[in-house]
Amino acid sequence: MNSLPFATGGALQVRRVFCVGRNYAEHAKEMGHDEREPPFFFAKSAEALVLGPEVPYPPMTGDLHHEVELVVAIGRDGAGISVDAARSHIAGYAVGIDLTRRDLQAVAKKQARPWAMAKSWIGAAPIGTLHAPAEVGHPRAGRIVLKVNGEIRQSGDLAEMIWSVDEIVAELSRYDRLLAGDLIMTGTPAGVGPLAIGDKVEVSIDGIGGAGFVIGPVAG
Ligand code: MN
Repeated sequence: MNSLPFATGGALQVRRVFCVGRNYAEHAKEMGHDEREPPFFFAKSAEALVLGPEVPYPPMTGDLHHEVELVVAIGRDGAGISVDAARSHIAGYAVGIDLTRRDLQAVAKKQARPWAMAKSWIGAAPIGTLHAPAEVGHPRAGRIVLKVNGEIRQSGDLAEMIWSVDEIVAELSRYDRLLAGDLIMTGTPAGVGPLAIGDKVEVSIDGIGGAGFVIGPVAG
């Protein structure tokens, strides 16, 4: 899937999917890191996006983890964007999940190898519909929650981000020109954990709404 619908109509043609690592202090701590490290980026394919009731359990892992995240959609090209100008480049917001093959990631970290196979496959980024600033403003605070089978597993607040949305847009645009249609997944609060086939996953962000899906059988 590389087209993402807006709640109020129309769609965004998705180009690249950037992700920020360790952007909430409590999650950085649970992964064994100091909370003040600068942000770093990795990527998923646009084909990782999936919008729908069932997300297949991916092959080649026995430890699929959920990471609920605020997703920012870029609507206007720009390089070297200032923090103050960041909002003018944002077309919308959504709630998404950075699904992670944690066992593959652990091996990659240990051997100083890329995270690509741990982070990107078809279906690695379930996402809700996009909400434009005209509809929801620019949310910078509000509860972000993930439930599995009705139980809260992740709960945080957008205000707890180590690097703000505007700082992330500015920083990323120093490395490469951002393009209309790029998405940025902005990191996850604490409480990441495993998912099993049949699990019902529900996510929500105050002011942006929710999304939900069930983990289906292993993709062929
Ligand atoms: Mn993540």
